[in-house]
Amino acid sequence: MGYAIARAARDAGARVILVTGPTMLQPPSGIRVVKVTSAQEMLEGVEKALSDCHVFISVAAVADYAPLNPQEQKIKKDARILALELAPTPDILANVASRANPPFCVGFAAESEKLDEYAESKRKRKHLPLLAANLAHEAIGAESNELILFDDEGRHVLPRAPKLTQARLLVHHLARLFAKTR
Ligand code: C5P
Repeated sequence: MGYAIARAARDAGARVILVTGPTMLQPPSGIRVVKVTSAQEMLEGVEKALSDCHVFISVAAVADYAPLNPQEQKIKKDARILALELAPTPDILANVASRANPPFCVGFAAESEKLDEYAESKRKRKHLPLLAANLAHEAIGAESNELILFDDEGRHVLPRAPKLTQARLLVHHLARLFAKTR
């Protein structure tokens, strides 16, 4: 979905910086691509790009936890139970949205139940003007998607359609909201 939004934003005339984790997807041409491999690197990549940005769309499904003590070498097997300690990763979107002069922030929420309730409370908690929500099991790996947009005006359903179509509708919606803030 992130790659589809990068393409849709480029086609709408935006200058796009795509900060991306590893994927087999081919980035759209004509945009700047910053490749990262961890949540910490993604935060740093986003922070560097932000000075030039009016809009930040946070689409990455960032891992919530990372190993506390990553090992350089292979961990040898023995008969004991192995417990890995995990530490929370930085929340990139919450970090950006809580800045003094934040860009217009768009978040995503993939839920497995109670979509409206969880999405709207996430939007409020992270101080987002716009959040796009979907059911995770219907979206991941699928070519098409149904999105529900939550903003101060309420709830807007984008019926099931290919991801690029959804991305264009989302960009159109956010551009309208963003224009009102100028
Ligand atoms: O809290 P939750 O992970 O459900 O929120 C999802 C939103 O937060 C998405 O927009 C995702 O890109 C962003 N996020 C983030 N950094 C994290 C976790 C999620 O920016 N560590």
